[in-house]
Amino acid sequence: HEGGKRLGLSWCRDLVSFRETHISEESLLPLTASIKHKLTQKNVTSDIADLLVTEVAQKLVGKKVSTFQSLASIVYRSLEESIIRILSSAKKIDLLTEVGSARKSRRPFVIAFVGVNGVGKSTSLSKVVHWLSQQNFSVMVAACDTFRAGAVEQLRTHCQRLDCALFERGYERDPSVIAQQAIQQATRQGIDVVMIDTAGRMQDNEPLMRALAKLLSVNLPDLTLFVGEALVGNDGVSQILQFEHRLQALMQTEKKCVIDGIFLSKFDTIDNKVGTALSLVYASSIPIMFVGTGQMYKDVRTFQAENIATVLLADS
Ligand code: GDP
Repeated sequence: HEGGKRLGLSWCRDLVSFRETHISEESLLPLTASIKHKLTQKNVTSDIADLLVTEVAQKLVGKKVSTFQSLASIVYRSLEESIIRILSSAKKIDLLTEVGSARKSRRPFVIAFVGVNGVGKSTSLSKVVHWLSQQNFSVMVAACDTFRAGAVEQLRTHCQRLDCALFERGYERDPSVIAQQAIQQATRQGIDVVMIDTAGRMQDNEPLMRALAKLLSVNLPDLTLFVGEALVGNDGVSQILQFEHRLQALMQTEKKCVIDGIFLSKFDTIDNKVGTALSLVYASSIPIMFVGTGQMYKDVRTFQAENIATVLLADS
């Protein structure tokens, strides 16, 4: 404008004011409605979709923008920020650093895998064994699913393929004692990580939930990972909340959360419907640590919030 005046270009001021506008609630409405539709199509629960668009509207209404900027791109950028903020808000865990410092203290780092039946628990556990082995950590698997026939044999097959130590005492034994003995043996042998496989159970199966609460209370794993399927949508959210709630009640722990992290399995089967990831983290405040992307051991990724945001906001 100053430059324009100096050059005698008085029309410059009008041009500048013409090129700036304030975002109004009305101007956002068509965009937020279509975004909400897109998010729910991709499995974001409708209350979280509502919350996201409301947050974006609150951030943007009244903001001065140049008319050269497309309102859609402003809204999308703001939405992307909100999605990444939610996905990154849960406390991050730097697993490799934590395993490394346990090794320095000459004790095994203990990871317990928990979850309901058939979600891919033993496959996901095996993927983490593979991932840790690739980082040069030695791993022992403790076969603590003493409930389901065939569980120990299944784990033995995984361990043979992965060339990893297996600690098993068959069936009909107290899984918390097996885990304890495995940790003792791993300590004696200088093994870096003990992975405890537990029986899959529904959160309302009282005897099995009690057994799991005992296993966790006795062995105090460094990390308790809940394996949940990416394809279950809202059911997955209530599953993890009820699981956590039941464990809290049974363990009477001081810990804010018994479950430390989520392994989201079968991510390769959901196409662009990645909304469960957002709903899970938002509802539980538990971070997603790993994502399972296939049936092979190598099919595991550490979780990247940015990737989820990109898929959620993509047109298809
Ligand atoms: P568990 O009963 O919870 O221990 O489940 P399993 O580990 O036996 O897995 C059940 C099925 O899910 C098997 O056929 C696995 O190959 C499959 N599975 C596990 N994780 C994934 C994944 O990330 N992607 C796909 N496509 N299949 C998976």
